[in-house]
Amino acid sequence: MSKIAFIGLGVMGLPMAKNLVARGHDVHGADLSGTARAQLAEAGAKVCEPEQLDLAGIEIIVTMLPSGAIVKSVFSDIILPRAEPGTLVVDCSSIDLDTTKQIAKDGAAKGLIVLDSPVSGGPEAAGSGKLSLMVGATPEAFEKAKDILSQIGAKMSLFGDNGAGQVAKACHNMIVGITALGVYEGFALAKACGLDAAQFYELCNGAAAQSWVLHNRCPEPGVVPAAPASHDYAPGFAAGLMSKDLGLAQAAAKSANLDTPFGAEAASRFAKFCADGNAAYDFSAIFRTMQTNA
Ligand code: NAD
Repeated sequence: MSKIAFIGLGVMGLPMAKNLVARGHDVHGADLSGTARAQLAEAGAKVCEPEQLDLAGIEIIVTMLPSGAIVKSVFSDIILPRAEPGTLVVDCSSIDLDTTKQIAKDGAAKGLIVLDSPVSGGPEAAGSGKLSLMVGATPEAFEKAKDILSQIGAKMSLFGDNGAGQVAKACHNMIVGITALGVYEGFALAKACGLDAAQFYELCNGAAAQSWVLHNRCPEPGVVPAAPASHDYAPGFAAGLMSKDLGLAQAAAKSANLDTPFGAEAASRFAKFCADGNAAYDFSAIFRTMQTNA
């Protein structure tokens, strides 16, 4: 059993923290949201506001936050001044490379062992410890973190030094964003041609058009009962976060001097969707923009 601080109890962080409680760890959760804190407390964890978080004796800190700017401020205001040397810090947020490298450097200067370990799998996999983890760390840090990582995720892969996990995540989510547009455009066309959406889903699911997006984020309400589309597109994975990740992929493409036109198109489509006031919906809600005839 480890003494773990978990910062960021949102759509992903809450089920991840609950999973660690269920595995017998002494979890101390922190979030700005009182509702999120209450939900984790109900599962048996200690909770507090971020400013109140005491990191004395904490062996592992996990962060699961929405953006690089927030991760940076949580590091500088809470983690760096309060964590004890030797503490393992696992940032599971999907954020930019510069922030990731900076927090690793600042953490190392204070004797902390910092890893980037963004995740794939959604809240479903978060609650059962079945996420896929893309890790950036030194081999020594990865070795030290393997035990806790294996309780967060069913699959983990060390891609290289700090930042390499974030690059893998950006490339991965560029595939998810592009796939989503393909799947949803196919559904929009099927519907416009008068096909039954549920029948079309069954066909695709057992055929070459099968994908994680199709199975978990089918865009037509009522076809897959657990999908966000069947719950007024509540996230799931918010369109704002998808847009952020597609932007990070474009930044990676620019620094690698590679044109990624499908990725660029997906980034621009999701950016517009968010600018139109839809950032808080699940990304599958972009389907609703595809159903009006040009
Ligand atoms: P979310 O917005 O649901 O949760 C973020 C949580 O952080 C919120 O509860 C918020 O109150 C809290 N928070 C914000 N600022 C804080 C601060 N200063 N101190 C403490 N808590 C603070 O987001 P999410 O969907 O859980 O995603 C979290 C991260 O995981 C993002 O980087 C996202 O890109 C990534 N991710 C999400 C999914 C998904 O399916 N939702 C999948 C993989 C990766």
